[in-house]
Amino acid sequence: MKNVICCRCVKCGREYPAAPDITTCECGGILDVIYDYEYIATKLTKETLRARTDRTMWRYRELLPIEESTVPSGLCVGMSPMYEADNIAAELGIAKLYIKDDGINPTASLKDRASAMAVTKAIEAGYDTIACSSTGNAASSLAGNAAKAGLKTYIFVPSRAPKGKIAQLMMFGANLTAVDGSYEETFELSKAAIDKFGWYNRNAAINPYLGEGKKTVAHEICEQLGYKAPDYVAVSVGDGCTVAGVYKGLYDMYMIGLIDRIPHIISVQAEGCCPINTAVINNEPWQPQEENTFADSIAVGVPRNPDKAINAIRDSGGICVNVSDDEIRSARRYLASKAGVFGEPAGVTATAGLIKLSREGRLPHEAVVVSIVTGNGLKDIDSAIQSVGEPVHCKNDLAQFEKLFF
Ligand SMILES: *Cc1c(COP(=O)(O)O)cnc(C)c1O
Ligand SMILES: [Zn+2]
Repeated sequence: MKNVICCRCVKCGREYPAAPDITTCECGGILDVIYDYEYIATKLTKETLRARTDRTMWRYRELLPIEESTVPSGLCVGMSPMYEADNIAAELGIAKLYIKDDGINPTASLKDRASAMAVTKAIEAGYDTIACSSTGNAASSLAGNAAKAGLKTYIFVPSRAPKGKIAQLMMFGANLTAVDGSYEETFELSKAAIDKFGWYNRNAAINPYLGEGKKTVAHEICEQLGYKAPDYVAVSVGDGCTVAGVYKGLYDMYMIGLIDRIPHIISVQAEGCCPINTAVINNEPWQPQEENTFADSIAVGVPRNPDKAINAIRDSGGICVNVSDDEIRSARRYLASKAGVFGEPAGVTATAGLIKLSREGRLPHEAVVVSIVTGNGLKDIDSAIQSVGEPVHCKNDLAQFEKLFF
């Protein structure tokens, strides 16, 4: 790979050649892919991007850790729409709000960006089986992308995962294990099985290439805004890979000169499970927490990527905000009814945080903000129906209809 220099440990700085199946550093630290930005800047310019017809995440392939000869595997991921939500911006008292809807990806979450990368690297490395543990979306996206790529999957989810995600997994033909325990226990079992059977590892953080897939959401935000960096990008945070990826994507675009500054990250977690935000706010090492939130995708008491996430929030001069489950519920309904974007609970948590910050007067009136919706609302319909209720019922009777609505 001409564009990649090495993989470097975020803890001890040790460097490794970027082998396609590399995992963590000897010291246990997470690896970061280091690029030759000078070289990339000669290849990836506004002009080359404008001429490109690829409408997937691979349009930024110079910034991605794959061989030049590699044909990407997996589904058509990325280039999700970004909507201007002027009505919401006006209500919140900010200049501009953009909703980046990553719930429209092929398996309906941002995780598709990591999974498309994972299956591509697994095939580069010559594996026929790939495995992961997940709160649900990484799993279902891996199962879908692997089905397309012709890889076998072994997948571990906590048994609390919502039915929509389980249905996807079963349909995509994953070898699925629903673990009776927390996400941490699910992760431990997957790790033991991967160690024993030697499958390609698509576990969050362990595999340094996953975040490189996720970062393409930030490349797209920059391109969709005509390379004018927004002031803030709001992200919901669980393991921390997404927020780290978003920062890396913004950093990439800055380093190759396509944006002139790096936006501030708004890191949003659930009040009932916020180990990363607690660490940043109190400026102390992170501590495990309970997983007390209905936003299942971010109910992560033991985050797998805390170092990269905390660095991303700090290096961007970011803001941390925690929201209650009620605030998530109300943001979910608000975003759907005001912008037409229906997210799953963790999918709208970033927007819930943004609403809270603006109500508390913590965002300047001239702020231009992007809020990323990370997963589609149909993933979890039980919790949606619980908060909006059942529809009115009516016979084929105009008089009855009139009584109901007028
Ligand atoms: C995974 C996920 C997140 C958080 O990503 P992390 O990398 O775990 O921090 C947020 N929202 C949704 C819908 C997710 O699936
Ligand atoms: Zn190390």
